[in-house]
Amino acid sequence: MQARQTSLENCPALVLNADYRPLSYYPLSLWSWQDAVKAVFMDRVNIVEEYDRVIHSPSVEFALPSVISLKRYVKPAPYPAFTRFNVFLRDRFTCQYCGAKNDLTFDHLVPRAYGGITTWENVITACAPCNLRKGGRTPAEAGMAVRQIPFRPTAFDLQERGRRFPPNYLHESWRDYLYWDAELQP
Ligand SMILES: [Zn+2]
Repeated sequence: MQARQTSLENCPALVLNADYRPLSYYPLSLWSWQDAVKAVFMDRVNIVEEYDRVIHSPSVEFALPSVISLKRYVKPAPYPAFTRFNVFLRDRFTCQYCGAKNDLTFDHLVPRAYGGITTWENVITACAPCNLRKGGRTPAEAGMAVRQIPFRPTAFDLQERGRRFPPNYLHESWRDYLYWDAELQP
């Protein structure tokens, strides 16, 4: 009954590659219902799962797709985008100095004043107190140890970490495709 009230805008389709893995995890590959329906009509995707929500046109009636898979395999990008969320995810949402999980900010390992740049290799997750304590110094100058040398993660690295931090919104029909191998984890 509630499905009838679901706004169309809240009915995106999870997009799987031809191997049934999500096309992208971070950000999660979602298409608007319009793009999903268009791709179905252009015969570029298979419908894997559907919402309860039905849409009508003068001649057709069909359920909105909730999960679609590409007919042609697309080679996934090996490296995820350099975004704030992905830096936090690489660092497991943990301060890389003290291990705190709250009040998180970003710290330049080599301070910007010393020519430090904003890259995967120079930006780490730090809680606000550690960030303040370190100030405009290098970790060595501040006498602070870094738990993990920052690196550019692969899509696989983030995917591994992401299992512990699922996206906020998961339609029930997506779950099998997002974490289908979760039980293989130790
Ligand atoms: Zn800290």
